[in-house]
Amino acid sequence: MEIQNNRYLLSGGVAPLELCEQYDCPLYVYDSAIIERQIKRMKDAFTVKKLKINYACKALTNINILRLMNQLGTGLDTVSIQELKLGIKAGFRPEDIIYTPNCVSLEEIEKAMKYGVKINIDNIFILEQFGQKYPNHPVCVRINPHIMAGGNTKISVGHIDSKFGISFHQLPHVKRVIETTGLQVSGLHMHTGSDILDADVFLSGAEILFNIARELPDLEYIDFGSGFKVPYKPNDISTDIEDLGEKISTRFNEFCTEYGRDLTLMFEPGKFLVSEAGYFFVKVNVVKQTISTVFAGVDSGLNHLIRPMFYDSYHQIENISKTEGKTRIYTVVGYICETDTFGINRKLTEVQEGDILAFYNAGAYCFTMASNYNSRFRPAEVLVHEGKAYLIRQRETMEDILRNQVDLPIFEPQNVEG
Ligand SMILES: *Cc1c(COP(=O)(O)O)cnc(C)c1O
Repeated sequence: MEIQNNRYLLSGGVAPLELCEQYDCPLYVYDSAIIERQIKRMKDAFTVKKLKINYACKALTNINILRLMNQLGTGLDTVSIQELKLGIKAGFRPEDIIYTPNCVSLEEIEKAMKYGVKINIDNIFILEQFGQKYPNHPVCVRINPHIMAGGNTKISVGHIDSKFGISFHQLPHVKRVIETTGLQVSGLHMHTGSDILDADVFLSGAEILFNIARELPDLEYIDFGSGFKVPYKPNDISTDIEDLGEKISTRFNEFCTEYGRDLTLMFEPGKFLVSEAGYFFVKVNVVKQTISTVFAGVDSGLNHLIRPMFYDSYHQIENISKTEGKTRIYTVVGYICETDTFGINRKLTEVQEGDILAFYNAGAYCFTMASNYNSRFRPAEVLVHEGKAYLIRQRETMEDILRNQVDLPIFEPQNVEG
């Protein structure tokens, strides 16, 4: 967002305050221009013959976002059969979808296979069973390179104690499964976690995959997962994708020459593509001065945006109702009946009840982690695209809260009006 003539504006000159007026708060808004920019950055950064970017859709699964990604030429990384079905519904070709589940049943993997998507297997026992049943169906193998990376323990998934992937020390076992079943391994994959800053982490992971690749003759692609860190505030540290792209591309091209085939270099970014594209707008219900703190209490909480409470994530907050004037220090909290603090000691232009606060970086893992806790409705979502704003999800209603609940006749309804 930028400020022009005393107003905050999204791309194409769309005014968020008008969207809040029209669609009410709390409201998620996504700016497609930022998604496009991020895809272009990746395409420009990686100079290899074959590059495939599979959007990790668990970050943000609105079907219109999926369709936009499809239009922009990405594939899709899915972690559940439901995400896979959403991808198909959004128009992705099965071969452009990779299914990377963890700890799911063989039955679910078989269902996914029938859609013709790429199957990524992260467990040696499943690999063995799959190989015996479907030796002719090519698979990808998720390798755990035992790299300690990622911004915090919840999002660090490639280390030695992690439940994800097949340890690279188990390669002899993987080869035994291939030899005895005739299974064709067409892809290798790693995903070490989120918020990786260091190109060297990727490069050392890459070397581990290359070592394994040398022993597997049928490969078509190598997938380096994701974990790119985006900035959370002005001048924040972030993954230098251009630098990373240069280093990985050089090494990848060398490896392809050695391997004797142009493999596809794959990535599956979630956060990198959508985090900065999203904003979450809330209305201030109360300003409450206690002995030590001034609280700004807003019409939302951990039910809508749980990252600050779950991961200690930082989301920049601004009072977009006032672009200038004196600032004060606030602790921004939600309305949920337990501690749900969005941000402590935030400098905001003086807040009055009814003002609209904007949370930045609300595109990834925000709406998709929202719940109905406290029986609140989940927010509406809006997409800003080429200068226009489109409602892409309606706010919920009481019907949504009651949907799927079964009225037992043994309890007399006391008040049918509700
Ligand atoms: C979540 C996930 C991603 C995306 O991670 P980001 O940090 O959002 O880029 C990629 N690959 C797999 C297998 C994942 O589970």
